[in-house]
Amino acid sequence: MRTKTLILSIMLLLATGIAEAKKVRVVAHRGYWNTEGSARNSISALNNAMAIKAYGSEFDVNITSDGVLVVHHDAKTANGLLIEEHTFAELREKAPKLKNNELIPTLDDYLTAWNHNKKTKLVFEIKPQSSPELETRMVEACLETLRKNNVTDKEVEFISFSYHVCKELKRLRPTAVVMPLSTAVAEPEQMFKDGMDGFDLHYNVLREHPEWVELAKSQKKIVNVWTVNQEDVMREMIALGVDYITTDEPVLLQKVIKNKKK
Ligand code: MG
Repeated sequence: MRTKTLILSIMLLLATGIAEAKKVRVVAHRGYWNTEGSARNSISALNNAMAIKAYGSEFDVNITSDGVLVVHHDAKTANGLLIEEHTFAELREKAPKLKNNELIPTLDDYLTAWNHNKKTKLVFEIKPQSSPELETRMVEACLETLRKNNVTDKEVEFISFSYHVCKELKRLRPTAVVMPLSTAVAEPEQMFKDGMDGFDLHYNVLREHPEWVELAKSQKKIVNVWTVNQEDVMREMIALGVDYITTDEPVLLQKVIKNKKK
């Protein structure tokens, strides 16, 4: 009888272990760009992320002076144009192409290419702007574009380094999933009081504050971690109990997760 109980306990432990590992979701950082002929934040990187069935394709959004939302990481283009101070036409005329020869995509281009993919969610980063007013206008524009494209709350998750952006997202679309990228303004306890759905922090921050993972779990919040490219750190973060890992190496992460299940 005791042997039977022991075997059952071991089976349960194994099953829990499998569930833990299985649960970790792969977010391709700026899409899956780390391949021949692709580039960060390109349509090609989005297509690659969808091809490998990543849970999410992360991308960065900035806004031009005439209100066009573009997928681009830095506030400035590669040749130094501050995006928020230039019109979209100026950007098209003066900004260099991406490394794989694509034009900087607009948010509309990106959503069209994504086309409500059933496997890969949009992990939508709204970049901080020079003033809270501009950030609010930008949040409004992003939400309006998503509305026009019939993007549901289940299809998109928002992240931002700007806590103002996170709060505005929650004010304007309370059902949206929002995760701050930094603890500069609020730590997780406050984030959760403010209605945030989780957090997305650098792995060194989680190493310093493993208790935040427990806090998040106790409140059914999401723990996302960036940007984990090394196998040993992937394993460390899986063991810590994170829900998502954001990585430039999504295929490697998929292998690590798969091997963990065995
Ligand atoms: Mg980003």
